[in-house]
Amino acid sequence: MLRGNLVLHLLPPRLEAMSMTSRALRIIHTPTTKLLKLSADSENLRIGKMIHAQLIASNENSRDSIVETNSLINLYSKCGQISSARKLFDDMHERNEVSWGALMVGYLRSGSPLEVIQLFKSMLSLDCVPPNEYILATVVSSCSDDRRVNEGKQCHGYVVKSGLEFHQYVKNALLNMYLRCWDVTAGIVVLDTLPGYDVFTYNLVLNGLVDNGNLMEAVGVLARMVADRAAWDGATYSTALALCASLKDLKLGLSLHCQMLKSRVDCDDFFCSTLIDMYGKCGKVMNASKVFDSLQVHNVVTWTSMMTAYFQNGFFEEALNLLLKMENECIPPNEYTFVVLLNCCAALSALRHGHLLHALVQKSGLKNHTSIGNALINMYSKSGDIEASYEVFSNMVHRDFATWNSMICGYSQHGLGKEALTVFGDMMAARELPSYVTFVGVLSACAHLGLEQEALFYLNHLMKQYGIEPGVEHYTCVVRLLTKAGALDKAENFMKSTPVQWDTVAWRTLLNACHVHRQYGLGLRVAEMVIRMDATDVGTYILASNMYAKAKRWDGVVNIRKLMRERSIKKEPGVSWIEIKDTTHIFVSDDNSHPEYLQIYEKVGELLAKIKELGYVPDIAGVLHDVEDEQKEEYLSYHSEKLAIAYGLLKTLTRAPLRVIKNLRMCDDCHSAVKLISKVTKRVIIVRDVNRFHHFREGLCSCGDHW
Ligand SMILES: [Zn+2]
Ligand SMILES: [Zn+2]
Repeated sequence: MLRGNLVLHLLPPRLEAMSMTSRALRIIHTPTTKLLKLSADSENLRIGKMIHAQLIASNENSRDSIVETNSLINLYSKCGQISSARKLFDDMHERNEVSWGALMVGYLRSGSPLEVIQLFKSMLSLDCVPPNEYILATVVSSCSDDRRVNEGKQCHGYVVKSGLEFHQYVKNALLNMYLRCWDVTAGIVVLDTLPGYDVFTYNLVLNGLVDNGNLMEAVGVLARMVADRAAWDGATYSTALALCASLKDLKLGLSLHCQMLKSRVDCDDFFCSTLIDMYGKCGKVMNASKVFDSLQVHNVVTWTSMMTAYFQNGFFEEALNLLLKMENECIPPNEYTFVVLLNCCAALSALRHGHLLHALVQKSGLKNHTSIGNALINMYSKSGDIEASYEVFSNMVHRDFATWNSMICGYSQHGLGKEALTVFGDMMAARELPSYVTFVGVLSACAHLGLEQEALFYLNHLMKQYGIEPGVEHYTCVVRLLTKAGALDKAENFMKSTPVQWDTVAWRTLLNACHVHRQYGLGLRVAEMVIRMDATDVGTYILASNMYAKAKRWDGVVNIRKLMRERSIKKEPGVSWIEIKDTTHIFVSDDNSHPEYLQIYEKVGELLAKIKELGYVPDIAGVLHDVEDEQKEEYLSYHSEKLAIAYGLLKTLTRAPLRVIKNLRMCDDCHSAVKLISKVTKRVIIVRDVNRFHHFREGLCSCGDHW
């Protein structure tokens, strides 16, 4: 949008060139040429042609009348009749710079920059009239329109020789050419060496720098504008606000907003949405909402900007709530609105709301937008309904690389490795180029399936073939693969021998495996290291304490608890939620605030009694409480996910799958209990914990007990 604006700003000088040159040549317009100019400016070809016909009839258009022919060339150029203009030009006996310039502008307008450069070359070779500043500006602009930086540089050389480089139009054209040809350094040299700028020049440079990602240089130009006391216009503010958003520079953003208010720039919708966007990206959602509220009328762009600001700052429900208000104002959402809202549903795992949005998408006629399809795949997968993701995926008309990635990673997160690899095979067959993210999904599928050879082939060969440098996420998948197979030493050696900056996620993968495979010696060593890397990681303290307890090293348990007390590290309370009909029910462990808590507790008791018959033994080693074993069992019984599942079983039809979200890692006890609950109730239970999805079905979990 911005770039378009600036290019438009460039046009007037070129188009004005003719009349200004005639002024410079002290040519007095006759009534006929005045009329021709008017028809040209208003692009009224019909009137222009009538005048032309009259001229031919009255034979006034003698071959000597350069001014009239120039006016006719100008008319046909501006009205898009470039071949008529060319014919007039070719028939001229004598031409001046206006004749050349008018035709060049015509070619530039009709999108034939090559013709402009060709004309310029013949003009120089004929050596008839020297090109003026307007012609030079037009020629330089033709070089930028087609990214012909070499011809542009030759032209620059000619400009310097001709001494016309200080002319504002020429300078602007040069800057624009360099910036659009991505030669920022050359652009800055022009800016530095040619004094005296107008706001167009500054806007050109700012926009070019922001577009090229030279953000700090752009800040330098802004500072220069302030020092030069240069006037700012709307385009300057827009670019400057976009710059603040990219830099997340709130201080600069606030002072710009302040300056905008003082200078009384017209705060239209477009401006307000850039302001909202800036505040959103700088993490100031309240400021964004104030700007939004200050608008008398909202359009789809401002609504969507506000929703995006909410989304970026984690206010997902607020974003979703805006949709209702938007509907009340009878403004239909566009594809961007839907994408933001679907991403909010994904973040909340709000499947029901996602369904409603999907229905709206179908009605809106926007369902074939690839970005919406991608957002739907992501929403369904994050909300636990991977089958629905696949249905959206298979019905998509156009797929891009993000579509494939969403499907592959979705399957991987759900522990459906085979399906993920099948989709990857289809992606290769469709000749879509895989990306960094694709291979994270593919390798984690391999890890899930225990395909060591394949994983190493992808990591060491295929990724290289596509020019993708493996990162810590890819290597972590290999660690997961090795640990899952119980090869903990091999995994540790792999970590020691791979030159990559391992993060806590990778070490915790090894740590979890030590816990699962009861390798407490290695586990406690790794735990110590993770705690050194991140002293606030609650999960690691808990795992370490569990491992000490299971190894019956009570001194270790005491030490860990002391450490946690000293560092004021508290176990975050476990929270689970489940959607029943239109309501989300939230459960905290040991929670008796739910109005139906008595029935829920009773249901939990009933379920635990049933699974005890199948051999369930509460895993009390993991409980961090200074209490008797019997009471520890109590604590376990009312973990939030057990409460949520019990409630779901009470409130839904017998065949419906249950979908529960949990804020922490599922504890070992709940995991083994839920496996058995899925068996005795014959229900599919899907739990999304902080690490992954668990699909519990007939006594088994899709994670294969590794999470
Ligand atoms: Zn639990
Ligand atoms: Zn599981």
